[in-house]
Amino acid sequence: MKKNRLMSPGPTPVPENVLLRMAETLVHHRTPAFRSVLGRVHAKLRELFSTSEPVLVLASSGTGAMEASVVNLLSRGDRVLVVNGGKFGGRFSDISAGYGIDVHEYKVEWGHPADPGEIRRILGENEDIKAVFTTLCETSTGVANDIRAIGEAVKPSGAALVVDAISGLSADELCTDEWGVDVVVCGSQKGLMLPPGLGFVSLSPKARDMVKRSDLPKYYFDLGKALNAYERDDTPWTPAISLVAGLDSVLDNMLSEGMEAVLRRHALLASSARAGIRSMGLELFSRRPSNALTAVKVPPGIDGERLVRELREEEGITVAGGQAHLKGKIFRLGHLGYTDEYDIVSALSAVERVLNRIGYDAGYGKGAAGALEVLGQTPGGY
Ligand SMILES: *Cc1c(COP(=O)(O)O)cnc(C)c1O
Repeated sequence: MKKNRLMSPGPTPVPENVLLRMAETLVHHRTPAFRSVLGRVHAKLRELFSTSEPVLVLASSGTGAMEASVVNLLSRGDRVLVVNGGKFGGRFSDISAGYGIDVHEYKVEWGHPADPGEIRRILGENEDIKAVFTTLCETSTGVANDIRAIGEAVKPSGAALVVDAISGLSADELCTDEWGVDVVVCGSQKGLMLPPGLGFVSLSPKARDMVKRSDLPKYYFDLGKALNAYERDDTPWTPAISLVAGLDSVLDNMLSEGMEAVLRRHALLASSARAGIRSMGLELFSRRPSNALTAVKVPPGIDGERLVRELREEEGITVAGGQAHLKGKIFRLGHLGYTDEYDIVSALSAVERVLNRIGYDAGYGKGAAGALEVLGQTPGGY
C-alpha cells in the first residue's frame, strides 16, 4: 500500500484533530451554540488576518471571495487597476470585465514580482482608478509580491487596495491594517489546512463605505447583508457548518503555535526546499519566491507533465504542474499548512528518483542533503 502525500499549493493536508472535529454531529446554524462558535471564529480570524476590522466567512471557494470583492466595492462605470503577474492576478481582470468594469491591466512578466514604482506611476496618471487588485502569493508562478511597498504606492491615490492572499496568508507576512490593505481575500484549502468550501473577505472602513455605495448586481455575495449578520455572529444564508467547526479548531492550532512561529516555520521549510532544489542542479522559476510554494523549472529535454504524473502515481507525492503557457515547463511544490521538514525531504528525494528515471541525472541524496543543511542550522525545527 502506498502512502499518499498531498504537496500541492492547494488543496493541502488537513490535520487529524480538524478532521475529527468536522466529523462531529451537525448543530443547527440558527442556535446560540453555533453563534458562539462563529463568534470565536470571527475573533480569531481578525488575529490571523492582522486586522481589527470584520472578516466575513462565505460558503464558496476562494474565487467566490474574489468575485465578492469586485461586485461589492465597485459601481457601474468604475475603473480599476489589476496587477496581473499570473493566472490568479488575471482572474481579477476576468471577473471585473465580466461585470462591465473598465480594467487597466499592469502586466507583470510571469515569475517576476510587481514593481511598486510602476503601480505608483500608473495611479499618478490615472486619477480615476477606484481600486487596485493584487496578489500576495501568485500561486501560478510561486512569486510573493511586496505588499508593504505596494500599500505605500497606493496610499497617496486614495484607491482601495485589494489583496488576494488565498495561498499566501500564513506563509508570507501580511500586516493588513498596518500596510493599508483594505480588503484581504482568502480561501480555506491552502494555508488554512481545511477542505475547499470557505471564502473569506476582510473589509476596512474605506471598503465598507464602498460596499454601501456599490451598485453592481449581486445577491448571494452581497457583503452588505453579510456585514449586518456578522454583527450578530450570524450569516445571511446557511453557512458551511462543518467547515466552520473545523475552522474553529484550525485557528486554535495556528494561534496556539503563534502567528510569528507559523510564518517562521513556512520561511524555514521554503528555504530548505529551495536549497534542496538548487543542490540537485535545478533552477527556481520565481525571482521573489513565496514561502507557500516553490516553483521549479523543468530541465531542458525533460517531460514536465510526466514528472508530475510519475511523482503522483509512482511515488505517491502530489505536486502541481505549470499552468497555461508553463504547462510541462515548471512544477510547483507546495509547503504550506500542515507540512513539516520530513515532507520536504521526502518530496525532494522523490523528485530526484523520478528525474533519474526519466533522463536527468539528479544524483541521489543531493536534494535531501541541501534541505537538511538548512534545517540543521535551526536545531529542533523552527
Ligand atoms: C487557489 C487560488 C485561487 C482560487 O481559489 P479557488 O478556491 O480555487 O477558487 C485564487 N487565487 C490564488 C492566489 C490562489 O492560490
